[in-house]
Amino acid sequence: MRRDCDIAIIGGGAVGCAIAYVLSRYDLKIALLERNPDVCMGASGKNSAVVHAGFNNRAGSLMAELCVKGNMEFENLCQTLDAPYKKTGKLVVALDESDLPIIDDLLEAGQKNGCEGLTKIGRAEMTELEPLASGAAALYSSNTAIINPFLYVFHLAEAAMQNGAEIYLNSEVTAIERSGGKYSVCAGDNVFSCSRVINAAGLYADKIAAMAGDTQYRIYPSRGEYFILDKQASELVARPIYPVPRKGAGGLGVHLTTTIDGNMLIGPSAEYVSHCEDYASTQRMMDKLFEEAQALLPQLERNLIIGAYTGIRAKTVPPGGGNFGDFIIEESHSAPGVINLIGIESPGLTASMPIARRVCEMLQVRCRLAEKAGWEPVYRANPVFRSLDMESQNNLIRENPDYGEIICRCENITKAEVLNALNNPLGARTLTAVKNRVRTMTGRCQGGYCLPHIVDILTNEMGIPPNEITFRNIGDAPFFGRCK
Ligand SMILES: Cc1cc2nc3c(=O)[nH]c(=O)nc-3n(C[C@H](O)[C@H](O)[C@H](O)COP(=O)(O)OP(=O)(O)OC[C@H]3O[C@@H](n4cnc5c(N)ncnc54)[C@H](O)[C@@H]3O)c2cc1C
Repeated sequence: MRRDCDIAIIGGGAVGCAIAYVLSRYDLKIALLERNPDVCMGASGKNSAVVHAGFNNRAGSLMAELCVKGNMEFENLCQTLDAPYKKTGKLVVALDESDLPIIDDLLEAGQKNGCEGLTKIGRAEMTELEPLASGAAALYSSNTAIINPFLYVFHLAEAAMQNGAEIYLNSEVTAIERSGGKYSVCAGDNVFSCSRVINAAGLYADKIAAMAGDTQYRIYPSRGEYFILDKQASELVARPIYPVPRKGAGGLGVHLTTTIDGNMLIGPSAEYVSHCEDYASTQRMMDKLFEEAQALLPQLERNLIIGAYTGIRAKTVPPGGGNFGDFIIEESHSAPGVINLIGIESPGLTASMPIARRVCEMLQVRCRLAEKAGWEPVYRANPVFRSLDMESQNNLIRENPDYGEIICRCENITKAEVLNALNNPLGARTLTAVKNRVRTMTGRCQGGYCLPHIVDILTNEMGIPPNEITFRNIGDAPFFGRCK
């Protein structure tokens, strides 16, 4: 079907959804095109979920500028979007005396970049903050925070929709053609006719750019593997703990990150891989991760591990090419009106809102964007049952008895919350869409208890037959036939 819009945004990650949110303030017809059955299924949902302060980025770089801006506004942004946010602070630890100069370099870089809240602390102060962590000294960053990246992106997307933006899932862009000053963007069964295209396709941004005639970009995928630890582990530390970064490591080093939901992460590794979908968790790397994590926190035990996941960085620097590649945000050289966002690796989550505003400013140079009446930036989410006091829980159950039925015992998630997740405005319906919204299948049993209950709800309440239910995507069904 042919559809008209003013702007097509390609990619439903943190960056594409932030752009949709920012642009939804203006009198524009916006179509966001995402190839997956939900938004936030790329790097935006597979990272450390840390709101970085900006001292790790090269002074004068776009990364440094946008990370510092993002850090400063993130708390307010999360309040506006009703998304969880916790300012935990972070320690970057010098394991021994030889690491101390790196701490000084980080402090200096942070000061140049305009980061606030950085202090060098000795062993005694470090032990006061984190009694169980190893190390000779540390850089303490009080402005570092943790978020739930899924809820941040979902709420951006849903707030954009509440202001009129349209989101098309299962819509992989396969061609971009230009004729008579307009672009035809082919995505799934639709062709979007528009005058502006924003390429926020993450790992595939080089391919999308090439469709519009820009063949000069290349993305080198770099895999980062993680372990997820049981909530018990979060009693060991109160905030993210990183080692000092090593030159040429291709990431910030294997760190311990407390999550906003009370688990702990170990990771990520950094390893170039040959294709963008290589999400494997490898025994070799997982052993190395655990060893490096134990150097930071000797008390860690393997029986705390309950899961694993992998994220892939969209690097512009090839293997052996050094560590640093800046964000590239520029208008196409060959296709006017197309804006390419290339190499949006860490700290892209932190910087997503300043990136979106920058794109908006670039559009405004070409044409005046008229603000529309009634833009509503504030988004309000459904209640989270487990975070309420007893009285509020009882009130909810009285209003809607589905809040009285626990579907996930590990995380205390109710049937009403699962139904709310399934009735999301984007229309996402997979088991992962439910998991990413309400945390089903993320507890100690990893879905052993709640999965059959969610399948019942999908079948009985949403009318989806079991053999049509999928985990993440088309073709990964948990059921493949009847046994009787
Ligand atoms: C291991 C790891 C750890 C990280 N840790 C942090 C951190 O702690 N803090 C931080 O700030 N940043 C972190 N980052 C970086 C951050 O996750 C990314 O910079 C950010 O999520 C990038 O967002 P994005 O929207 O550009 O990309 P993505 O989230 O990857 O979104 C791109 C979207 O485009 C879609 N797409 C691709 N091709 C097409 C097509 N042809 N048609 C339609 N849609 C398409 C994809 O499906 C995807 O949904 C980390 C990244 C990794 C990998």
